[in-house]
Amino acid sequence: MYLDSHCHLDRLDLTPFDHSLDKALQSARQNGVSGFLCVDIDLDNFAAVRQIAEAHPDIWCSAGVHPNAEFDTPLTAETLKALALSSPKVVAIGECGLDYYRGLDDRLLQLERFQTQLDVAVELDLPVIIHTREAREDTLLHLRRFAAQGGRGVLHCFTESLEMAQEAIEFGFMVSFSGIITFRNAQPLRDVVKALPLESLLIETDSPYLAPVPHRGKSNHPGWVVDVAACMADVKQVPPERVAQQTQDNFFRLFSRAQRAPA
Ligand SMILES: [Zn+2]
Ligand SMILES: [Zn+2]
Repeated sequence: MYLDSHCHLDRLDLTPFDHSLDKALQSARQNGVSGFLCVDIDLDNFAAVRQIAEAHPDIWCSAGVHPNAEFDTPLTAETLKALALSSPKVVAIGECGLDYYRGLDDRLLQLERFQTQLDVAVELDLPVIIHTREAREDTLLHLRRFAAQGGRGVLHCFTESLEMAQEAIEFGFMVSFSGIITFRNAQPLRDVVKALPLESLLIETDSPYLAPVPHRGKSNHPGWVVDVAACMADVKQVPPERVAQQTQDNFFRLFSRAQRAPA
């Protein structure tokens, strides 16, 4: 059974599923997907994310603010804490982090938001879901300090260097790979996957974004996490069942508040 460790279920294109989220989830379950972590991107969409998690025993959610999120509600530690404590289905803080890919104009706001969320994660003893793009030094600097305070988490949709992944694993983080590893031009990233220990890896779709081969160009959904797992198995030359089992164990080790759904 596979777990999709990062998806945005409130944003899926449900057209192929008769506009029904339940049908999309059913189709994923038929593909062998047994759990979903529905990730929040700002304070305004948290209610939708939590509602989806609360309606399904095999869905959990996070609370947090994406580095590029534009929204009106100001982010304070108190607001975020209240959201994170509002339901037992909240198992992580995020996605948060730093994204300098689109430019450095809002760098200070990003750094401030990031630190607030790391502080809340330490205080509530919750793992963090990290979004990081072209911000290697600043991300590692913050996470090293966070890890020294007992913090743990995952670098999601990883596309950075092997050195960065190894450093994060050294201070106890996991690294999650999306459908990007299936892309034809992604051999350097597959080399990163190959070099890292399976015990530190997670799989995700980041749906509705980043549909894996052979579905590229379509809107992504959690059922296609099996294509990410198949690619990872191929790269690591192990059976897909081994990737499924190990990434599932890793998921519950990291997101320890998530209860396994009854078989
Ligand atoms: Zn992200
Ligand atoms: Zn995401």
